[in-house]
Amino acid sequence: MMQENIFLKIVERKLPANIVYEDDRCLAFHDINPQAPVHLLIIPKKVIPTHADITEADKELLGHLHWVAAQLAKQLGLDAGYRLVLNCKEQAGQSVPHLHFHLLGGRRMHWPPG
Ligand code: AMP
Repeated sequence: MMQENIFLKIVERKLPANIVYEDDRCLAFHDINPQAPVHLLIIPKKVIPTHADITEADKELLGHLHWVAAQLAKQLGLDAGYRLVLNCKEQAGQSVPHLHFHLLGGRRMHWPPG
């Protein structure tokens, strides 16, 4: 079930979060319910409800999020590997209507995902 946009509240500093990275376009913070020893969420400051809503104008922003994810993975020492996950809409398990990448690492991952 999609909730209200709590990530926008984190961007606006109306809700606390353990923020590890911020720049003019994005924010990264620890997931409140970690699924791995490292579990960060990387979000654009701009509201994009789902991956299906990105437009051509967002191409550079999406590339930036990938670059930030790679830098954070390096900083966190995830040299053995990591997984970047994006859940799009209900059937994929998206619960917050604000596009976000999960950066997961620090343990062996399984495939296929559930
Ligand atoms: P998704 O299911 O892909 O939409 O992912 C939403 C993620 O946000 C889940 O992993 C939640 O544990 C996480 N989450 C929900 N509320 C918060 C919060 N206030 N601070 C940090 N992470 C949160």
